[in-house]
Amino acid sequence: MFTIRGKLVIYALEIVAAASLLLSMRPLDWHVQVGLATVAVLAVGFATLLGRSIASAIDRLVVSTRRIGEGNYDDPVLVHSSDEVGTLGREIDRMRLQLREKVRQLEELSRELEGKVARRTDALRQANERLSELSDLKSDFISKVSHELRTPLTSIMGAADNLLDGIAGPVDERPRSYLSRIKENADRLLHLINELLDLSRIEAGKEEICLSNFRLDALIGETLETLKPLAEERGVMLAAPQGPPLVIRADRDKVSRVLINLVDNGLKFTPPGGRVDIRARAEGPWVKVAVSDSGVGIPARELERIFDKFHQVERVRGGGRAGSGLGLSISRQLVEMHGGGLTVESSPGAGSTFTMTLPVADGDGVGPQAARESWHAS
Ligand code: ADP
Repeated sequence: MFTIRGKLVIYALEIVAAASLLLSMRPLDWHVQVGLATVAVLAVGFATLLGRSIASAIDRLVVSTRRIGEGNYDDPVLVHSSDEVGTLGREIDRMRLQLREKVRQLEELSRELEGKVARRTDALRQANERLSELSDLKSDFISKVSHELRTPLTSIMGAADNLLDGIAGPVDERPRSYLSRIKENADRLLHLINELLDLSRIEAGKEEICLSNFRLDALIGETLETLKPLAEERGVMLAAPQGPPLVIRADRDKVSRVLINLVDNGLKFTPPGGRVDIRARAEGPWVKVAVSDSGVGIPARELERIFDKFHQVERVRGGGRAGSGLGLSISRQLVEMHGGGLTVESSPGAGSTFTMTLPVADGDGVGPQAARESWHAS
């Protein structure tokens, strides 16, 4: 509550009061009176001097500690008295020097780290450029080789077709079966080459999407018609319940490719007697297309890996027609290019459901709104 100066003045006043009290007590020898008065005057003077010196030393300490707090560690603490205030000043000065050293070390460390980060960033930028060069080279290579392979392969297929059609004369049972195998395998090879070409185009960022508003339910109907013969051949029931008209904004060819890939997989991994269903529904600004099958299913640990390039589930490999393991990877990337997603849920032995999410048409078409309303009403 009181400053040091104030306290010392109070002590001095107390001495003066005591001296005055003694002086007022008569009879006192005048020597004693003079002595007491002198003591009182000296006490006041001494208290004033002492108070001034302690207060100014403390003021200097306050200024110094404030400077240190502001990050100025260079000015020494100038309190040289040999009392407790002086000791405090020396301690604060010692701490100032320690702090200065620590800050210097930290600054050095931070400079070193900055240098390291800069060097690392540089190295990563080199590495990155090299990787992107290599990736371009890889895409180029795959695309060139694939094109080179596609031409002779098409002519092999054409020749096999001609022979099978009997252009070069009637073909017996045995050579016919060999020719059919040639055709079948050439077909698979062509499929693989086309998928490799697609993948390298997507990965090189060269695949473009061409958006338009179109009726998804119509596309589902077309897919159903295209794949019905294959479903019948495999003894699998393929169905798509008639839903509300759904207009979406997407690249029609690419959505069609994804849908065909999903249904084709469903048919491939569903034993005869099973079924594959395609269902579409609107959910807010999205349309969800689910392709579910009652097939072999996918083990939980494989669920995400099946979207990796060339990944095929060990257990079902060899079951059904062999594939490349590229279809789902391409499909997911094509759907993601639309801002959507492709996910899977599955129970081994019970079947799988692949769900593709796509944006509904946004324009002024009545389709998406009407579709959403009729979906929610149903
Ligand atoms: P592909 O079918 O050509 O091998 P995909 O990328 O389309 O390549 O599929 C990758 C793998 O995922 C398949 O080999 C198969 O192991 C698994 N898979 C895909 N769809 C299904 C499905 N409907 N049921 C069971 N397994 C599936």
